Amino acid sequence: MSLVLDDVTLTYPDGDGRVTALDSVSLAVPPGTLTAVVGPSGSGKSSLLAVAATLVTPDRGRVVVAGTDTGVLDRAGRAALRREHIGIVFQQPNLLPSLTAAEQLVVMAHLSGRRNRAAARARALELLDAVGLADQAGRRPHQLSGGQRQRVNIARALMNDPAVLLVDEPTSALDHERGAAVLDLLVTLTRARSTATVLVTHDRAHLDRADRTVTVRDGRLSERRPVRL
Ligand code: ADP
Ligand code: MG
Repeated sequence: MSLVLDDVTLTYPDGDGRVTALDSVSLAVPPGTLTAVVGPSGSGKSSLLAVAATLVTPDRGRVVVAGTDTGVLDRAGRAALRREHIGIVFQQPNLLPSLTAAEQLVVMAHLSGRRNRAAARARALELLDAVGLADQAGRRPHQLSGGQRQRVNIARALMNDPAVLLVDEPTSALDHERGAAVLDLLVTLTRARSTATVLVTHDRAHLDRADRTVTVRDGRLSERRPVRL
C-alpha cells in the first residue's frame, strides 16, 4: 500500500470545545488506483487530504506514506517526505503568474534540491506532453484556459514522481466537459505512473471512473452503496 490511514481521528478547537473533523477513519490506497471521496460540505474531505498530506497531524491514529509511518517524523522529516513522495493538487491552481508552464514544473525540482536544470526541463516537457500541453510549455498562466491551468497544476504535482497523489475538487471551476477530461487524465496518470490517488469531488458524474468511492459524513467514512436501479 502506498497510503494507509489507520484509525485516524482529527479534532480542531471550536469555541470552548472541539469539533471532530475525522472520526476513526481507516483507508488504504494501493498504487495505480484512484479512490474518490465524496460527502457534503464540511464533512471532513479536505481534512482527510490534509492528514494524508502530513500537513496536519491527527490527534490519534497512524498515517503511513510509501512505507513510512509519518508519526515518527519531525516537521523537517514530514516536509522531506512530502517533497519526495506526495503530489498535491488543490482546487485553485496557484500558479506563479510570471513563469511559463514549463518553468512552474522546473521550480519544483529546484525546490527539491535537484540542480540538474536540463534533466528537470526534460522531465517538465515530458509531463506537459502527458497532460496534453506539449505545445503550451512556453505560455504563462494568463495565456492558458482554466482547464489548461489545472492540467499544469496536475503535471506539477507529478514532477517528483510521487507515490501518493492527493487531489481536492480539481474540476469545481470547470464546466462538465472540461471536468470530465481532467478526470480522464487523472485516471490515466494514476495507471501510467502507479500513483495511489485520492480524489475529493462533489461531481457525481465522475464516480464511475474511480476504482473505489467512499463517502465522508460528519467525519466518518463509509463505502458508497452502489446505485439501486
Ligand atoms: P470538507 O472539505 O468536506 O468541506 P473540511 O475537512 O474542510 O470539510 O472540514 C471538516 C470540519 O472541520 C468542518 O466542521 C470545518 O468547519 C472544520 N475545520 C476544517 N478546517 C478547520 C480549521 N483549520 N480550524 C477549525 N476547524 C476546521
Ligand atoms: Mg473541502
